[in-house]
Amino acid sequence: MDIDLKVLQEILNRLREVNGTIMVDPYPGYGWLFIDNAEDLRLLLHDPDAYLAKSYKVTVERFRAWREFFNDDKQCRGTTKRGRRCRNFVDVRTPEGFVPGISDRCDLHTVPTLRGR
Ligand SMILES: [Zn+2]
Repeated sequence: MDIDLKVLQEILNRLREVNGTIMVDPYPGYGWLFIDNAEDLRLLLHDPDAYLAKSYKVTVERFRAWREFFNDDKQCRGTTKRGRRCRNFVDVRTPEGFVPGISDRCDLHTVPTLRGR
């Protein structure tokens, strides 16, 4: 269902009249997102991943990679010497700094040449 931009703009205008706003908190602890224009509101309603990627200033692919890691309890994706999946916690902040293959590894499983970045 496509929602007319004029309708969305009218909703935002009426909210402003009462000092209201629309905020989204998709990942608690990663900051509220404020919606202040009809285009963003429409994007959120029709393609949430595209809206969130735009808001976090990353590609949709990077946003989805970050979300998958986030939803996987932020556990290292490295492999132990015994061939098992490492389960060390990795503190990853917002999607902006997330690099698959690097940001999703603990200190033990980061590629040595990339360590320190
Ligand atoms: Zn690890």
